[in-house]
Amino acid sequence: MQIALDGRVVVVTGAARGIGRVIAETFASEGAVTIGLDLSVPDDGGDQIHWRSVDVTQLDAVTETVDDIIIRHGRVDVLVNNAGINAEGDVDAIDPALWDRAFEVNTRGTFNTCRAVIPHMKGQSSGRIINAASFAAIVPSVGAAAYGASKAAVVQFSRTLASELGPWGITVNSYAPGMIPTAMNGFAEMSAEAQAERLSTLSIRRWGTAEDVAHLLCFLASDLASYITGTLVDVSGGKLATQAPSMAYDRPGAPLLVG
Ligand code: NAD
Repeated sequence: MQIALDGRVVVVTGAARGIGRVIAETFASEGAVTIGLDLSVPDDGGDQIHWRSVDVTQLDAVTETVDDIIIRHGRVDVLVNNAGINAEGDVDAIDPALWDRAFEVNTRGTFNTCRAVIPHMKGQSSGRIINAASFAAIVPSVGAAAYGASKAAVVQFSRTLASELGPWGITVNSYAPGMIPTAMNGFAEMSAEAQAERLSTLSIRRWGTAEDVAHLLCFLASDLASYITGTLVDVSGGKLATQAPSMAYDRPGAPLLVG
Protein backbone atom coordinates (compact mmCIF):
# COMPACT_ATOMS: atom_id res chain seq x y z
CA MET A 1 0.00 0.00 0.00
CA GLN A 2 1.47 3.36 -0.99
CA ILE A 3 0.53 7.02 -0.85
CA ALA A 4 1.04 7.67 -4.55
CA LEU A 5 0.99 11.39 -5.26
CA ASP A 6 3.47 11.46 -8.12
CA GLY A 7 2.29 13.92 -10.78
CA ARG A 8 -0.76 15.10 -8.85
CA VAL A 9 -1.34 18.85 -9.14
CA VAL A 10 -1.60 20.25 -5.62
CA VAL A 11 -2.39 23.84 -4.64
CA VAL A 12 -1.49 24.94 -1.10
CA THR A 13 -2.51 28.38 0.18
CA GLY A 14 -0.46 30.23 2.78
CA ALA A 15 2.53 28.16 1.69
CA ALA A 16 5.29 30.73 2.22
CA ARG A 17 5.98 29.85 5.85
CA GLY A 18 4.88 27.88 8.87
CA ILE A 19 2.78 24.75 8.48
CA GLY A 20 1.84 25.59 4.89
CA ARG A 21 5.47 25.67 3.81
CA VAL A 22 6.08 22.17 5.17
CA ILE A 23 2.83 20.91 3.63
CA ALA A 24 3.90 22.21 0.21
CA GLU A 25 7.44 20.84 0.55
CA THR A 26 6.12 17.45 1.63
CA PHE A 27 3.75 17.16 -1.35
CA ALA A 28 6.59 18.23 -3.66
CA SER A 29 8.94 15.65 -2.15
CA GLU A 30 6.27 13.02 -2.86
CA GLY A 31 6.45 13.96 -6.55
CA ALA A 32 3.36 16.19 -6.69
CA VAL A 33 3.39 19.25 -8.94
CA THR A 34 2.98 21.71 -6.10
CA ILE A 35 1.80 25.30 -6.45
CA GLY A 36 2.26 27.48 -3.39
CA LEU A 37 0.06 30.56 -3.00
CA ASP A 38 0.72 33.34 -0.54
CA LEU A 39 0.55 37.10 -0.18
CA SER A 40 4.11 37.28 -1.49
CA VAL A 41 6.58 34.81 -2.91
CA PRO A 42 9.18 33.78 -0.30
CA ASP A 43 12.82 34.56 -0.96
CA ASP A 44 14.18 31.64 1.07
CA GLY A 45 14.25 28.61 -1.21
CA GLY A 46 11.32 26.33 -1.88
CA ASP A 47 12.73 25.79 -5.38
CA GLN A 48 10.68 22.66 -5.98
CA ILE A 49 7.45 24.67 -5.53
CA HIS A 50 5.76 26.79 -8.21
CA TRP A 51 5.04 30.06 -6.39
CA ARG A 52 2.20 32.48 -7.06
CA SER A 53 1.38 35.57 -5.05
CA VAL A 54 -2.31 36.08 -4.41
CA ASP A 55 -4.49 37.30 -1.56
CA VAL A 56 -7.06 34.58 -0.90
CA THR A 57 -9.62 37.17 0.19
CA GLN A 58 -9.86 38.48 -3.39
CA LEU A 59 -12.16 36.21 -5.41
CA ASP A 60 -11.29 37.67 -8.83
CA ALA A 61 -7.55 37.35 -8.25
CA VAL A 62 -7.94 33.81 -6.88
CA THR A 63 -10.06 32.77 -9.87
CA GLU A 64 -7.52 34.26 -12.28
CA THR A 65 -4.71 32.39 -10.51
CA VAL A 66 -6.53 29.06 -10.55
CA ASP A 67 -7.47 29.48 -14.20
CA ASP A 68 -3.81 30.16 -15.00
CA ILE A 69 -2.76 27.05 -13.04
CA ILE A 70 -5.18 25.04 -15.19
CA ILE A 71 -3.64 26.49 -18.37
CA ARG A 72 -0.12 25.66 -17.18
CA HIS A 73 -0.68 22.33 -15.43
CA GLY A 74 -3.95 21.04 -16.91
CA ARG A 75 -5.81 20.25 -13.70
CA VAL A 76 -6.03 20.71 -9.95
CA ASP A 77 -6.17 17.42 -8.08
CA VAL A 78 -5.78 18.72 -4.54
CA LEU A 79 -6.57 22.05 -2.89
CA VAL A 80 -5.23 22.65 0.61
CA ASN A 81 -6.69 25.75 2.23
CA ASN A 82 -4.00 26.40 4.83
CA ALA A 83 -3.86 30.23 4.74
CA GLY A 84 -5.17 31.68 7.95
CA ILE A 85 -4.68 34.37 10.55
CA ASN A 86 -5.02 34.54 14.30
CA ALA A 87 -7.35 37.15 15.80
CA GLU A 88 -7.23 37.72 19.53
CA GLY A 89 -9.36 39.90 21.76
CA ASP A 90 -12.30 39.53 24.10
CA VAL A 91 -15.65 40.13 22.47
CA ASP A 92 -16.13 43.45 24.27
CA ALA A 93 -12.66 44.65 23.28
CA ILE A 94 -11.72 43.24 19.88
CA ASP A 95 -11.48 45.73 17.02
CA PRO A 96 -14.47 44.91 14.78
CA ALA A 97 -12.15 45.25 11.78
CA LEU A 98 -10.04 42.38 13.17
CA TRP A 99 -13.19 40.32 13.66
CA ASP A 100 -14.05 40.89 10.00
CA ARG A 101 -10.51 40.13 8.88
CA ALA A 102 -10.57 36.73 10.63
CA PHE A 103 -13.65 35.80 8.64
CA GLU A 104 -12.29 37.36 5.43
CA VAL A 105 -9.10 35.28 5.49
CA ASN A 106 -10.09 32.11 7.33
CA THR A 107 -13.63 31.64 6.05
CA ARG A 108 -14.13 33.75 2.94
CA GLY A 109 -10.61 32.90 1.72
CA THR A 110 -11.47 29.21 1.93
CA PHE A 111 -14.75 29.82 0.09
CA ASN A 112 -12.94 31.79 -2.64
CA THR A 113 -10.41 29.12 -3.52
CA CYS A 114 -13.07 26.40 -3.43
CA ARG A 115 -15.28 28.49 -5.68
CA ALA A 116 -12.40 28.83 -8.14
CA VAL A 117 -11.43 25.13 -8.29
CA ILE A 118 -14.88 23.54 -8.15
CA PRO A 119 -15.71 23.91 -11.88
CA HIS A 120 -12.38 22.30 -12.80
CA MET A 121 -12.72 19.46 -10.29
CA LYS A 122 -16.27 18.80 -11.49
CA GLY A 123 -14.94 18.68 -15.06
CA GLN A 124 -12.36 16.10 -13.95
CA SER A 125 -14.93 14.17 -11.86
CA SER A 126 -12.27 14.01 -9.16
CA GLY A 127 -10.58 16.14 -6.56
CA ARG A 128 -9.61 16.57 -2.95
CA ILE A 129 -10.30 19.70 -0.92
CA ILE A 130 -8.67 19.85 2.52
CA ASN A 131 -9.36 22.85 4.74
CA ALA A 132 -7.46 24.04 7.80
CA ALA A 133 -9.81 24.40 10.73
CA SER A 134 -8.34 24.44 14.23
CA PHE A 135 -8.72 22.78 17.56
CA ALA A 136 -10.34 26.13 18.46
CA ALA A 137 -13.27 25.08 16.26
CA ILE A 138 -13.90 22.20 18.69
CA VAL A 139 -12.96 23.71 22.05
CA PRO A 140 -12.45 27.46 21.75
CA SER A 141 -10.10 29.54 23.88
CA VAL A 142 -10.82 32.57 26.05
CA GLY A 143 -10.17 35.71 24.01
CA ALA A 144 -10.39 33.92 20.67
CA ALA A 145 -14.06 34.18 19.69
CA ALA A 146 -13.30 35.58 16.24
CA TYR A 147 -10.70 32.93 15.44
CA GLY A 148 -12.75 30.05 16.88
CA ALA A 149 -15.96 31.12 15.17
CA SER A 150 -14.25 31.66 11.81
CA LYS A 151 -12.70 28.18 12.02
CA ALA A 152 -15.94 26.53 13.20
CA ALA A 153 -17.51 28.06 10.08
CA VAL A 154 -14.84 26.33 7.98
CA VAL A 155 -15.84 22.97 9.48
CA GLN A 156 -19.52 23.41 8.68
CA PHE A 157 -18.74 24.85 5.25
CA SER A 158 -16.56 21.81 4.49
CA ARG A 159 -19.28 19.37 5.52
CA THR A 160 -21.81 21.10 3.29
CA LEU A 161 -19.42 21.21 0.36
CA ALA A 162 -18.64 17.51 0.81
CA SER A 163 -22.32 16.75 0.22
CA GLU A 164 -22.58 19.08 -2.77
CA LEU A 165 -19.53 17.56 -4.48
CA GLY A 166 -20.10 13.90 -3.62
CA PRO A 167 -21.72 13.11 -6.98
CA TRP A 168 -18.45 14.07 -8.74
CA GLY A 169 -16.34 11.87 -6.47
CA ILE A 170 -14.73 14.95 -4.92
CA THR A 171 -13.96 14.68 -1.22
CA VAL A 172 -13.91 17.62 1.19
CA ASN A 173 -12.50 17.40 4.69
CA SER A 174 -11.18 19.74 7.34
CA TYR A 175 -8.46 19.19 9.90
CA ALA A 176 -7.75 20.52 13.34
CA PRO A 177 -4.08 20.88 14.18
CA GLY A 178 -3.37 21.02 17.87
CA MET A 179 -0.56 23.13 19.09
CA ILE A 180 2.28 23.68 16.65
CA PRO A 181 4.75 26.47 17.50
CA THR A 182 4.81 28.95 14.60
CA ALA A 183 4.96 32.71 14.07
CA MET A 184 1.16 32.74 14.43
CA ASN A 185 1.01 31.74 18.08
CA GLY A 186 4.38 32.31 19.77
CA PHE A 187 4.12 29.07 21.77
CA ALA A 188 7.90 28.65 21.59
CA GLU A 189 8.43 32.04 23.24
CA MET A 190 6.17 31.37 26.23
CA SER A 191 7.59 30.82 29.73
CA ALA A 192 8.48 27.24 30.68
CA GLU A 193 5.52 27.19 33.08
CA ALA A 194 3.06 28.34 30.41
CA GLN A 195 4.41 25.78 27.96
CA ALA A 196 4.13 22.99 30.55
CA GLU A 197 0.54 23.99 31.32
CA ARG A 198 -0.44 23.80 27.66
CA LEU A 199 1.37 20.51 27.10
CA SER A 200 -0.43 19.02 30.11
CA THR A 201 -3.65 19.03 28.06
CA LEU A 202 -2.20 16.46 25.65
CA SER A 203 -2.15 12.66 25.68
CA ILE A 204 1.01 12.76 23.51
CA ARG A 205 2.93 15.32 25.54
CA ARG A 206 4.94 17.20 22.93
CA TRP A 207 4.34 20.13 20.63
CA GLY A 208 2.91 19.16 17.27
CA THR A 209 4.99 19.57 14.15
CA ALA A 210 4.09 20.78 10.69
CA GLU A 211 5.16 17.33 9.48
CA ASP A 212 2.42 15.75 11.64
CA VAL A 213 -0.08 17.80 9.64
CA ALA A 214 1.61 17.27 6.27
CA HIS A 215 1.55 13.49 6.67
CA LEU A 216 -2.18 13.52 7.40
CA LEU A 217 -2.81 15.71 4.37
CA CYS A 218 -0.81 13.46 2.05
CA PHE A 219 -2.99 10.57 3.19
CA LEU A 220 -6.24 12.54 2.75
CA ALA A 221 -5.07 13.61 -0.73
CA SER A 222 -4.27 10.07 -1.80
CA ASP A 223 -6.42 7.34 -3.36
CA LEU A 224 -6.27 5.56 0.01
CA ALA A 225 -8.68 8.16 1.42
CA SER A 226 -11.32 8.11 -1.34
CA TYR A 227 -14.08 7.08 1.12
CA ILE A 228 -13.33 9.79 3.70
CA THR A 229 -15.35 12.95 3.23
CA GLY A 230 -17.27 15.52 5.23
CA THR A 231 -15.25 14.93 8.36
CA LEU A 232 -12.99 16.89 10.69
CA VAL A 233 -9.73 15.13 11.50
CA ASP A 234 -8.08 16.13 14.75
CA VAL A 235 -4.26 16.01 14.64
CA SER A 236 -3.59 17.32 18.10
CA GLY A 237 -1.81 14.67 20.16
CA GLY A 238 -5.13 13.90 21.82
CA LYS A 239 -5.68 17.40 23.18
CA LEU A 240 -8.43 17.18 25.79
CA ALA A 241 -9.29 13.69 24.50
CA THR A 242 -9.71 12.82 28.14
CA GLN A 243 -10.58 15.04 31.08
CA ALA A 244 -7.15 14.85 32.70
CA PRO A 245 -4.43 13.41 30.44
CA SER A 246 -1.84 14.37 33.08
CA MET A 247 -3.01 11.48 35.27
CA ALA A 248 -1.21 9.02 32.99
CA TYR A 249 2.02 11.03 33.23
CA ASP A 250 1.83 11.43 36.99
CA ARG A 251 1.87 7.66 37.60
CA PRO A 252 5.09 6.16 38.97
CA GLY A 253 7.18 4.70 36.17
CA ALA A 254 5.46 6.64 33.38
CA PRO A 255 8.06 7.83 30.86
CA LEU A 256 8.09 11.61 30.54
CA LEU A 257 7.46 12.54 26.91
CA VAL A 258 8.23 16.19 26.31
CA GLY A 259 8.95 17.83 23.00
P1 NAD B 1 1.47 31.20 9.90
O1 NAD B 1 1.02 32.55 10.32
O2 NAD B 1 2.87 30.79 10.23
O3 NAD B 1 1.28 31.03 8.32
C1 NAD B 1 0.09 31.45 7.68
C2 NAD B 1 0.39 31.74 6.23
O4 NAD B 1 -0.82 32.19 5.61
C3 NAD B 1 1.44 32.84 6.04
O5 NAD B 1 2.42 32.44 5.09
C4 NAD B 1 0.61 34.01 5.55
O6 NAD B 1 1.33 34.91 4.71
C5 NAD B 1 -0.51 33.30 4.78
N1 NAD B 1 -1.66 34.18 4.61
C6 NAD B 1 -2.28 34.93 5.57
N2 NAD B 1 -3.25 35.66 5.01
C7 NAD B 1 -3.26 35.36 3.68
C8 NAD B 1 -4.04 35.82 2.59
N3 NAD B 1 -5.01 36.74 2.73
N4 NAD B 1 -3.77 35.31 1.37
C9 NAD B 1 -2.78 34.39 1.19
N5 NAD B 1 -2.01 33.93 2.19
C10 NAD B 1 -2.25 34.42 3.42
O7 NAD B 1 0.42 30.18 10.51
P2 NAD B 1 0.51 28.61 10.82
O8 NAD B 1 0.66 28.44 12.27
O9 NAD B 1 1.45 27.95 9.88
O10 NAD B 1 -1.01 28.18 10.49
C11 NAD B 1 -1.39 27.64 9.23
C12 NAD B 1 -2.87 27.25 9.31
O11 NAD B 1 -3.06 26.29 10.35
C13 NAD B 1 -3.78 28.43 9.65
O12 NAD B 1 -5.00 28.31 8.94
C14 NAD B 1 -4.02 28.25 11.14
O13 NAD B 1 -5.22 28.85 11.57
C15 NAD B 1 -4.04 26.75 11.25
N6 NAD B 1 -3.74 26.28 12.61
C16 NAD B 1 -2.50 26.41 13.15
C17 NAD B 1 -2.25 25.95 14.45
C18 NAD B 1 -0.90 26.03 15.09
O14 NAD B 1 -0.73 25.52 16.21
N7 NAD B 1 0.10 26.64 14.47
C19 NAD B 1 -3.28 25.36 15.17
C20 NAD B 1 -4.53 25.25 14.60
C21 NAD B 1 -4.75 25.71 13.31
